[in-house]
Amino acid sequence: MKPKFDRNRLIASLVSAIVLLIFMFIVIKNRQNATVSFNETAFVMGTVFQVNLSSQGKTEDPSAELVNIGNRLERDTLSWRLDSSEVAAINASAGDPQGHELSPEMEAVLTECLRISAESDGAFDITLGALTKLWDIDGWANGDNKGDFVPPAKSEIDEALSNCGYEKLQIKDHRIYMPEGMSVDLGAVGKGIYLDSCRDYLSSGDELRGVILAGGSVLTAGEKENGEDWNVGITDPFSDGELIGYIQVGPWQSVSTSGSYERFVEYEGERYHHILDPATGYPAKKGNASVTIVAKSGLLSDALSTACFMLDSDAAVSLAKRMGAGICIITDDGLVKGDIELIHQK
Ligand code: AMP
Ligand code: MG
Repeated sequence: MKPKFDRNRLIASLVSAIVLLIFMFIVIKNRQNATVSFNETAFVMGTVFQVNLSSQGKTEDPSAELVNIGNRLERDTLSWRLDSSEVAAINASAGDPQGHELSPEMEAVLTECLRISAESDGAFDITLGALTKLWDIDGWANGDNKGDFVPPAKSEIDEALSNCGYEKLQIKDHRIYMPEGMSVDLGAVGKGIYLDSCRDYLSSGDELRGVILAGGSVLTAGEKENGEDWNVGITDPFSDGELIGYIQVGPWQSVSTSGSYERFVEYEGERYHHILDPATGYPAKKGNASVTIVAKSGLLSDALSTACFMLDSDAAVSLAKRMGAGICIITDDGLVKGDIELIHQK
């Protein structure tokens, strides 16, 4: 006997198969679109480094490589304390009439720094090594030597200043020439250079979005999912560890803040901070409590935050403008100046 054709059963089976296929499709699609977060905190280049990134579908965590990039930069390139670095080799060559051959990367960094020195009339100066060592800024940063700090004598400051001055440094035919006793200190731009390297690494790979923090500098990586600007918190210079508000920043921008609250030491009721005036050799006193700069280049934002801290607020705003960067200053009197709006926390 011929089996009876059950039309209803066939339709039911077909419908079940289709529902199953749709379900599997949704599961696979959701898995591809699932948001993966990468959050990491590490101590890199003498400061707290924080990664807060997310991605859709990416599974590889970029944090370890970002930390490696910072460690390599410090060891091989930027640190004046480590003999292995290019800066240490440059400093060891001071006084050598043959000078020292520069890597293309270092030549680009130094050339940009010298441009900012000239634009800021010497307020920013990477040749202050003798002076920053005399003040022992790194000692206070580590929390060492704070108790028995005594400000250097004027004669010592004058002696150190005689070994400083960006105009005495020369770059010619990919070689650097410095007088004896001069020493380069890239402390004002190190975090910004690091963030530039992070940006190069992240923007060439899978799509990641979020923020990366290195000390007082922040990189906004990629676009926010909803297309809005990133909110970047600004430290309250008058209240330890608190935020005073935030600024709004677009994708792939570097935000750097320099402030007298960051590294300081006290002696007989007076505060001595880490941003030194190349004209006097003493901590800068221009009425700024903090200066925040926003620029595409981390090197520029970091250099300018230091340079602008060294200037009175009108000169600082005009320097930032001339160099195509945004600026937000909080003065010692608590006033907010510049072209970037500080949105106070509610
Ligand atoms: P930042 O915190 O980025 O403003 O950088 C401050 C660091 O830059 C200090 O710890 C010094 O190593 C160095 N520095 C201090 N004063 C100056 C200056 N006027 N120009 C360039 N670098 C400076
Ligand atoms: Mg800086």
